[in-house]
Amino acid sequence: MPKRHSSLSRVTPEGIRCRLCDAVKPASDYEACPGSRTGLRTECRDCHKASKLAAYHRRKEEIAVERKAAYAQNPEIRRRIGLASYYRHHEKRLVGKRRYRTDHPETGKAQNRRYRARLAGVQPGHTLDDLIRIHRRQRDLCFWCGGRLHGLYEPEHVIPLSRGGSDYPENLVVSCRKCNVSKSGRTPVEWIYGSSSQAVHVRKVIRRFRVRRALH
Ligand SMILES: [Zn+2]
Ligand SMILES: [Zn+2]
Repeated sequence: MPKRHSSLSRVTPEGIRCRLCDAVKPASDYEACPGSRTGLRTECRDCHKASKLAAYHRRKEEIAVERKAAYAQNPEIRRRIGLASYYRHHEKRLVGKRRYRTDHPETGKAQNRRYRARLAGVQPGHTLDDLIRIHRRQRDLCFWCGGRLHGLYEPEHVIPLSRGGSDYPENLVVSCRKCNVSKSGRTPVEWIYGSSSQAVHVRKVIRRFRVRRALH
């Protein structure tokens, strides 16, 4: 007859011997079990996890039926379990998302575009003819910095779509790429008065606006 260890005889100076895999592991590798003599489970974390998983797979169909009944009786349980799992895997998901976006830059850009359109929730309000008319009205000059556009203009929403601006011609000017990118999602006032960091290009815009105001 093989010698049976009591739970205390499994405790050695090097650690605790697992009842199932027989490996000696530190106490931190055992889950707490307040009722037992050592205060810890007799099987190590890995073995405990494996046996729980095996038990689950043995009763899989049964468990599914039980859960379904419990959820039907109390829908709140399902929501709570879902939330708990969501937060348990939150970090991992964020890391994966970030990696995906760096590996697929084009998808990310398309996502950004879709996001902005959804955020704005606006119907397209201008046509290509409107843009051509606006470009002609500005005499091929950037609305913000006054630089020559050489026909390479970008439609620019004075009040950004994301800030509730419309997509109608009243809210549209044409600008150079630099101004468009620099202004981004800000209103003109936020951009011109709040951007000490983007000094060189924006200073040009500020100068031009001082001149404009002086003329009025
Ligand atoms: Zn073990
Ligand atoms: Zn410009």
